[in-house]
Amino acid sequence: MGFDSSKCDFNICRGECLTRCPYVSYDETGAKNAIKSLINGKNVPILTECITCAACNDFCPTGANPWDLIAWRQEETDILGIPVDAKPSSDWLKKPYFVRKGKPGGPLISMGGIYEVVPQQEFLSGIMFDDATIIGGGNLACGFTETHLGRASRPKKNLSVFIENLSLEAEKYGVDEIVFTHDACYNVVTTLAMAENMEVPFRPVHILEYLRNWLKEHKDRITPLNIKAGLQGGCTTRYAPVSGDKEIWSDWISDIFEMIGVESVEANRKYTGENRLCCGSSIFHSQHERALDIQKMNIQDAIDAGAERYVFICPACIAIMRMTCGKLNLEPVYITQLVRMALGEELGEAGTAAFGYPVR
Ligand code: SF4
Ligand code: SF4
Repeated sequence: MGFDSSKCDFNICRGECLTRCPYVSYDETGAKNAIKSLINGKNVPILTECITCAACNDFCPTGANPWDLIAWRQEETDILGIPVDAKPSSDWLKKPYFVRKGKPGGPLISMGGIYEVVPQQEFLSGIMFDDATIIGGGNLACGFTETHLGRASRPKKNLSVFIENLSLEAEKYGVDEIVFTHDACYNVVTTLAMAENMEVPFRPVHILEYLRNWLKEHKDRITPLNIKAGLQGGCTTRYAPVSGDKEIWSDWISDIFEMIGVESVEANRKYTGENRLCCGSSIFHSQHERALDIQKMNIQDAIDAGAERYVFICPACIAIMRMTCGKLNLEPVYITQLVRMALGEELGEAGTAAFGYPVR
C-alpha cells in the first residue's frame, strides 16, 4: 500500500493504470503524462475524473500503486471538496455504539459503522446467527469509506485506535476472533495491519469464511438453489490478502456457491476479475447519472452472461445498486440472504436486498 515512485517505470509500462481504467479515456502518452504530473505535484483532471475504485493498483504491471498516488493527491489538494460531515459515509464514523447480545460461546460479529446498511434483524438472523453477539458503531468503523471522500489516509491514521477498540470488545465478550460483515474492516485488520507491522490480538474472520465454515458443518441442512448468479466484487475486495495467485475471498465464495447450488456466470463476463466494475457509490450523489450508467453497464453484463441473480458481498454495494438491479429485472441478493434461502429460511421484510425495496 502506498505509491512507490521507484516502481513507476515509464520505460517498462504502457500506461496501463489509466488506459485500462474503464471510467476515463486515456491513451498511453496521456496516461503517462497524467501520472508524471501528479508525481510533480500538479493538479490534473484525473484527480476529479477518478471514481476511487482502486483498480489501477491491479492494472499497473510494475506494482507502483497509482491509485494511492491519486488518493494522496486528492487528499493533499482537497480537490473533491467533500465536507467531513458529509452523509451518509462520514456519518458512519460517528454512529452510536450498538449491541445485540447473543449466547455465551457464540461468535462476535462486528458490523463496523454501517449497521443500518446491514439490517441485522434480517441479514444477520436465522440459524447461522442465533448465538451471535452483534456489535457496531463509529468506534468500530475502520474508516475505509473515507478513501472515497478525498481522505484516504484515514484508515491508516485510525488503525491503532480501531484495533484497540475491537480488542476491548473481544475481551469483553471472551472471544479470540471477530467476524467482520464488511470486508473493508477485515482488510484493514489484515492487509493494512500487516503492512504497518501492527499486531492484531484477535483472529479476524471474514463473513464469507464464517458462512463457508458454517455450511461445511451443516451440509445436511442445505437445499441447493440451482440458480446462476453474477457477483459484485467491490473495491474493498482489491485490498484482500492474497493466497497463491488469488485474493483470499474468491475461494470462500466458490466453496459457498458450490455447497448451496449456485453456478457463477463470472467466467462469461467482460467486467470480472481485475476488470470488475465499481458500484458507483463514491459518485452516486455528486455525479448521479454517471454512477447509474456504470451500474447499468455492470448489471447488463451479468445478465448477458446468464445471471438469474446478482450476489453482493459488500453491504454498501447492494445498498447503492439495488434500485438499478430492480430496474433491469435482475434480483440483487446479499450473501447472507442467499445462503439463508438455501437453508429454507424466511428472509423477513428486508427480502434479498434490504429496506423492503420491491425488486420483483
Ligand atoms: S503507475 Fe504503473 S502503469 Fe501507471 S505510469 Fe506508473 S508504472 Fe506505468
Ligand atoms: S482508482 Fe479506479 S477510477 Fe480511479 S484512476 Fe484508478 S482505475 Fe480509474
